[in-house]
Amino acid sequence: MMFPLPPNSTIGLVGGGQLGRMSAIAAARLGYRCHILTREVDSPAAQVSHAVTISDYEDPVSLRAFAAAVDVISFEFENVSAEGLDLLASLKPVRPAPTALRVSQDRVAEKSFLNQAGVATAPWACVAGLDDLRAAVSTLGLPAVLKTTRLGYDGKGQRVLRDPSEVEPAFAALEPKPLILEGFVDFACEISVVIARGADGAVSAFDAVENRHRGHILDVTLAPARIAPEIAGVASSIARRVVDGLELVGLLAVEMFVDAEGRVLVNEIAPRPHNSGHWTIDACPASQFELHIRSIAGLPLPPAARHSDAVMKNLVGPEDVTLWPEILATPGLIPHLYGKTEARPGRKMGHVTRLFPLGALPGEFGVEAALRPFFKPPASAGLSEA
Ligand code: AMP
Repeated sequence: MMFPLPPNSTIGLVGGGQLGRMSAIAAARLGYRCHILTREVDSPAAQVSHAVTISDYEDPVSLRAFAAAVDVISFEFENVSAEGLDLLASLKPVRPAPTALRVSQDRVAEKSFLNQAGVATAPWACVAGLDDLRAAVSTLGLPAVLKTTRLGYDGKGQRVLRDPSEVEPAFAALEPKPLILEGFVDFACEISVVIARGADGAVSAFDAVENRHRGHILDVTLAPARIAPEIAGVASSIARRVVDGLELVGLLAVEMFVDAEGRVLVNEIAPRPHNSGHWTIDACPASQFELHIRSIAGLPLPPAARHSDAVMKNLVGPEDVTLWPEILATPGLIPHLYGKTEARPGRKMGHVTRLFPLGALPGEFGVEAALRPFFKPPASAGLSEA
């Protein structure tokens, strides 16, 4: 394959969700076509793409047909089988390479890689059986977080252990085994850095942003994170170390905890666009999705600079979707909807972004005010009927 990819080339994207949708929109602006591989008949990504193959991620016949139809392969979905990935990589360039995906698919491989690369994480131990877990609890202490090593996302597949009586039931409940026990991080805030790296080793990293979760699902991202410049610098250099260590060609997000002492610990990495980077569509000349496409297509990487500060709020589940008419009627809210027909609880349906002049991200009350209709003042505010 010829890099840089010439205009009108076809990019194959594995996974049909909103990350694929927004990558495909960015690809279209750069003159590329996208071909989506997904299990879903009507997926957010395929709705805005040139072509779709509907199949599971293992079927060799479908994988071969998909690879034959595209010039380079990337993904927005991490749980592709190792065999499937190897088959794809034997047929067409896969960017990021399967090794990066393998590291991020498995929390033990991920934490081992990070620690070997000199990147700090919470203390952890691999838990195959109940004896391992008891030993790990006595070393790491309680509270601690027990997680599946694979297939966990949005807080699924994990339990916080606070009391010894919770150890056995949590071990029994979490599948698939093996598990990992992590020391509980009493974090001051959660941050993330999204970084792109080209085949020549050049990188472009967005400033660290602050992430707030609700029910284990990302709720709000503040860009930039309200942290000391030294901590932001540490976060960027960690991201750089991670992509250099993986020799990544593509885009990657690093989720981190900042503790009360200002230490930065990596929670997890994802070699793909990330929910905490959605604000970049509206606040940056080149979004995370454009950097994703540019890096896998071998195009030059522009700086990951922003022209505005931003707040991003996710639309999750049926309740948030009912606010759509109000969102559309609120000047300054930039709406994004993902084309999902069914609003199940906990499902990410869209997001909104609000921009602020550079350096003028407001304080807590300002953020809430900026996100009406989500944060309505209490009905009785300011009025007394007495
Ligand atoms: P994860 O699935 O690893 O991204 O975890 C989901 C969320 O659980 C994180 O964003 C944190 O809010 C929380 N969490 C995960 N691991 C830990 C930990 N070791 N200590 C404290 N909180 C954690």
